[in-house]
Amino acid sequence: MASTAMSPVRGQAGQAEDFVIRVEDLRVEFRTPIGVSSALDGITFEVPRGKTLGVVGESGCGKSVTGLAILQLVPLPGIITSGRVLFRPHDGSEAINLLEYERMGADMRGTRGKNISMIFQEPMTSLNPCYTVGNQIKEAILLHQTKNHKEAKERAIDILQKVGMPNPERIFGSYPHELSGGMRQRAMIAMGLSCTPDLLIADEPTTALDVTTEANILELMRELQQEIGMSIMFITHNLGVVAQMCDDVAVMYLGRIVEQASVEEIFYDPKHPYTISLLRSIPRLGTNRKEHLEVIRGSVPDPYTRVSGCPFHPRCPSFMPGICDKVYPEALHLPSSPQHLVRCHLYNDLNHQEVATSSGDKSS
Ligand code: SF4
Repeated sequence: MASTAMSPVRGQAGQAEDFVIRVEDLRVEFRTPIGVSSALDGITFEVPRGKTLGVVGESGCGKSVTGLAILQLVPLPGIITSGRVLFRPHDGSEAINLLEYERMGADMRGTRGKNISMIFQEPMTSLNPCYTVGNQIKEAILLHQTKNHKEAKERAIDILQKVGMPNPERIFGSYPHELSGGMRQRAMIAMGLSCTPDLLIADEPTTALDVTTEANILELMRELQQEIGMSIMFITHNLGVVAQMCDDVAVMYLGRIVEQASVEEIFYDPKHPYTISLLRSIPRLGTNRKEHLEVIRGSVPDPYTRVSGCPFHPRCPSFMPGICDKVYPEALHLPSSPQHLVRCHLYNDLNHQEVATSSGDKSS
């Protein structure tokens, strides 16, 4: 079976930009006694420096695994089977393939936190229950920013204040179990931001927060982005947050990117039936109370089953028998908007430029 690799999003104007991270044909498998699940099946994208890429899709489409794979933190039995993760430091030096580093070696550990930080979805399992929140943030600062304990403590308290913690001095000395879910989430965010990374991978960072705190956190991320040129990979289900925060969007389905474009094109001119269905399922202000919210019919297939042809075909309202269930769609640049990429047979007869030529799944 052959597969195709998408060209990355190249910024809103379609021009090549300086990237902080470029992922090429990345594949991750989970090999278990019941079978092999392809969590990532050859994804390619890049995050331009100082910009925000939104990664959206239903649960189980591979969003979080993408973030974990960039940092070589995919939990066993998951393994990265192929691909490259190129990281370009802000000093302008050559891009480094992070997958060439030892998973737990000094180079990889030096990159995590300092150059690339991740805010995890589940703070209770990510914070160490044996250490105070302050100690955990201070440890990251001592490791990557300064050796001065007093200065590290001041910075930790400052960042706790910035993420909206009431009484940050007290929170500094608190253990994770003494905080509410929302406060633990803010502690995770503080830890992620404490070393002013080149790239922040934010995996559903504001899900547990009330809307006011969410707005403050998003504002803080935007401020830091402007201040230090930080790039953000924003993994979320929340398309409202994507509209507010992101420059570009990658839509994922079953371990593949099915559409990539600028945020304006995704919201105002979506092409892939899956993206269109996702957008139609957002509740809107002003709609008639008796109107039913549109849902995407069916559910995401079992990850151990390989769907023939287009992986979305069992649920697609535009399904074309004989094509969609037989042939895996290539990635195409739309002629009207070269930076807009889509994997769907509906666009095959357009005067498109086919971009994907590498090997991969093409047929059932
Ligand atoms: Fe739907 Fe066919 Fe396009 Fe897949 S290729 S999204 S099944 S129209």
